[in-house]
Amino acid sequence: MNLVDRFLKYVSIDTQSDPNVDTCPSTLKQKDLGRLLVSELHELGLDNAYMDEHGYVYALIKATTDKATSPIGFIAHMDTSPDAPGVNVKPRIIKAYDGKTIQLNDTLSMNPSQFDALNYVVGEDLIVTDGNTLLGADDKAGVAEIMAMAEIMVQNPFPHGDIYIGFTPDEEIGRGADLFDLDFFKAKFAYTMDGSLIGGIEYENFNAATAKIDFVGKSIHPGSSKNKLVNAMHIAFEFHLMLPTFLNPAYTEGYEGFNHLSHMSGSVENAHLEYIIRNHDMGKFNNQKTDFERVRDYLNQKFGYEAVKLSIIDSYFNMVEVLKHDMTPVRLAEKAISNVGLTPHSTAIRGGTDGARLTYMGLPCPNLGTGGFNFHGRYEFASINQMTQALDVMIEIIKLHSQV
Ligand SMILES: [Zn+2]
Repeated sequence: MNLVDRFLKYVSIDTQSDPNVDTCPSTLKQKDLGRLLVSELHELGLDNAYMDEHGYVYALIKATTDKATSPIGFIAHMDTSPDAPGVNVKPRIIKAYDGKTIQLNDTLSMNPSQFDALNYVVGEDLIVTDGNTLLGADDKAGVAEIMAMAEIMVQNPFPHGDIYIGFTPDEEIGRGADLFDLDFFKAKFAYTMDGSLIGGIEYENFNAATAKIDFVGKSIHPGSSKNKLVNAMHIAFEFHLMLPTFLNPAYTEGYEGFNHLSHMSGSVENAHLEYIIRNHDMGKFNNQKTDFERVRDYLNQKFGYEAVKLSIIDSYFNMVEVLKHDMTPVRLAEKAISNVGLTPHSTAIRGGTDGARLTYMGLPCPNLGTGGFNFHGRYEFASINQMTQALDVMIEIIKLHSQV
């Protein structure tokens, strides 16, 4: 089956994940795609392919050489974002995009001045939505590319080492790495096929934590509260104003970190603030966390009782902290991208990836471009040319790695 047909088949299956459900997978429909992928892998002759109870799909393309080539792997996620409708996806192919405004339906259009990504795909064949749903290129472009890679490696094998394949559920709700089975997936390193522009190699991401702060006040009738009332909401204001003013996402970009107030609630007796803390630099990240502790200590001393309770929980860390000790996965991808005639490029992600989590679980895992754009909404589209190039990049990575 060709790459485009695969992609169109996979996006027709609704696999939206749900952040409000605690089970894994969060939605059973993700297993519909999982089952299809397993049966297609079986048809290719990969008998070891299976889906586990949580909807993770795994397979191994066994080595065809005795050379001591370390096993590598490719990973994509099956779920789509809960941020936009994901059922009844009706893709449309635009041949040789002319660089002008694309009319998605009667009321919705996208133009290159508003959506910069369109400037990178002029002349290419695109797959767009009908304006009512997301497309699901995030990450079914990656899924289709890995399946097409498996087909090529099975039908036209050249000498290679073990190649592991993993498809995960619930990536969009931050849980794709949670139950990833590293006992089966024995790659020395892997790539998530979950990036955007072709040629992209992402290997730097934020260090991330969440701070939750509870403020305890003393409520007294305001008519007779002089020197007695302590308003929890006021302590919360004070806390917020003592944090560094310019460490605010509205003032930061690139490698600049931030503390972002994501939630607040309160009454006179109790108030609650939640922040996400982000920085690429581990030292600065730790300093930001220390700021929270110092403000808490100051206010508790000022009020003379435990008015401020703080808990900070780490979410994920920058994968470069691990990769910098062995940049082989990044260098290999750079060489493969150059070899197929493209220019490798890297930017620091202002977020996290499943690959970052997997890296800290012992599987170094940079993220590669797939040719999908404008993720998580109705303006999402994919470039057929770039998806094909992403497939070429994977094959070239395997080829280069087999020669090591
Ligand atoms: Zn994704």
